[in-house]
Amino acid sequence: MAAALVSADGTILVQDRIATPAGGADEVFAALAVLVEKVRGEARPIAVGIGSAGPLDAVHGLISPVNIPGWRNFPLVERVRDLVGVPVTLGVDGHCFALGEFWTGAGRDADTLLGIVVSTGVGGGIVLNGRPLLGQSGNAAHIGHVVVDQNGEACACGSFGCVETYASGPRMVARAQRNGWRAGEPVDAAVLAADAADGDELALAAFDDGAQALAAGIIATAVTVDLTTVVIGGGVSKAGPVLFDPVQAWVKRLAQLPFVTELNVVPAQLDNAGLLGAAHQAWASIS
Ligand SMILES: [Zn+2]
Repeated sequence: MAAALVSADGTILVQDRIATPAGGADEVFAALAVLVEKVRGEARPIAVGIGSAGPLDAVHGLISPVNIPGWRNFPLVERVRDLVGVPVTLGVDGHCFALGEFWTGAGRDADTLLGIVVSTGVGGGIVLNGRPLLGQSGNAAHIGHVVVDQNGEACACGSFGCVETYASGPRMVARAQRNGWRAGEPVDAAVLAADAADGDELALAAFDDGAQALAAGIIATAVTVDLTTVVIGGGVSKAGPVLFDPVQAWVKRLAQLPFVTELNVVPAQLDNAGLLGAAHQAWASIS
């Protein structure tokens, strides 16, 4: 869990983070409250923006992040409003990532962009004509669950052949291992990336499969909402060229309609885009 004081121009004044404690709903919130008080110090913020892993209910301010079992339909907006005493906004972490990169990062010259976080899952957010695209429940832009192969592998979401089943770190590792790469070893996407950078063909093939699925999801989104820019971040994107080279090659291959042929796919520039995007939502809500 991370918190920051962010000025109206997107400057981070203070920031800190803590490991999310195991435990029940109140225990987790108590740790968050300590973090918020520490970052706030003597300052008097006028709004709070929250970015959270989904699923969430933005209408009622409830969150149920998959990786925090203690919080199920947890009324985080109400609890933080009570704690800080100012208006509170809530957005999906992928939306906040996209907004942060749009505000001060790799997407700052674009007004219509898709942000993608490639990590243990694949999340995202869309900024359309300078505004976040939320959807009716606040869950728009689940790029990881765009189906790119309806006959593909089962996805954790219950569907088949989603982008995430090819492009998440754990799925790329599993595919490479099924094909004989470091079979049986306890490895992760960072090891896969290092081997791919050294020219290992099985590792490169896993990145190429993931890149192809990402490109298919990117093009599906681009032809639907008419994008100019795609910003890719998240732990797996740290792999660099072994991910970006094939993503860009596949995007070029699949982008054929005239309005998507100039689509720009670039790496994220910020380490804290999520915090900045959450802050951007808060500033936008009071201006
Ligand atoms: Zn899925």
